[in-house]
Amino acid sequence: MSKLYIVATPIGNLNDISARALSVLAESDLIAAEDTRHTRRLLDHYEIKQNIVALHDHNERRQSHLVVDRILAGEAVALVSDAGTPLISDPGYVLVQQARAAGIVVEPIPGPSALTAALSVSGLPTDQFQFLGFLPSKGREARIRAFVDYAGTLVLYEAPHRIENLLTLIVKHFGPSRDVVICRELTKVYEQVIDGPAEALLSKLAEGIIPARGEMVVLVAGRQSVSDSAIVTLDHCLNVLCAELPVSAAASLASRILGVKRNEAYKRALDHQQVDDQL
Ligand code: SAM
Repeated sequence: MSKLYIVATPIGNLNDISARALSVLAESDLIAAEDTRHTRRLLDHYEIKQNIVALHDHNERRQSHLVVDRILAGEAVALVSDAGTPLISDPGYVLVQQARAAGIVVEPIPGPSALTAALSVSGLPTDQFQFLGFLPSKGREARIRAFVDYAGTLVLYEAPHRIENLLTLIVKHFGPSRDVVICRELTKVYEQVIDGPAEALLSKLAEGIIPARGEMVVLVAGRQSVSDSAIVTLDHCLNVLCAELPVSAAASLASRILGVKRNEAYKRALDHQQVDDQL
């Protein structure tokens, strides 16, 4: 049946291709691939003989017309990228748009993506995340700064020669203690998943504990929860007030200013005082 299949392929380990992906690749009339030589190697590994045409960033608009025409003429076409899921920081958007506009059925053959693989092992919350892909080479700082207050997990793709710059930007704008996870070479021999405060990871990069090589996904923990930041605010408020007032008056004012329970503020103020007395 004439259709466009969007086929996910491995991000490193060739065994990660699905049985369904292999049969779609073998049975389609044509494969549209980001890099024909790269895809030919994958097909050779599975002894699949197929016609392949190139569809990449530089010819996507023109090639998409041709592919859409062939599907409308009755063919089934499979789109693949070099690794992972097409359209995820990879070509295919124009083709899918044109195919859907032409009334063609577009069917996913789901499988690996560095995005979901990294999220699944990072240990950071996955209920809310923002995928930023690659930061642009110009305007990187402004782009990432816009997400400083984002409460969910940020996920970025990064090239090895820019990883130091990215971590430096994270330290500068998110603070040195913001938790970061770097997932390198997932599903490959030298797979590495390493987490820690942004500044510590920058040091590990300088020491070579994190090699600036291979493929990387960088995840940044979201801004602290409201309750955590409220505690920081209460502490700051009590610090200022306790320097001028007796503890009970300081606690009373802090509870009115921040709308927290008076006994909670009082208890925290006493904790402060005990720490101060010990110094
Ligand atoms: N379409 C792919 C996907 O679904 O993940 C992404 C393609 S994008 C051009 C390539 C980037 O994905 C790499 O620079 C890296 O940031 C990330 N990536 C791909 N494979 C990876 C792997 N095995 N380990 C870590 N990151 C990977």
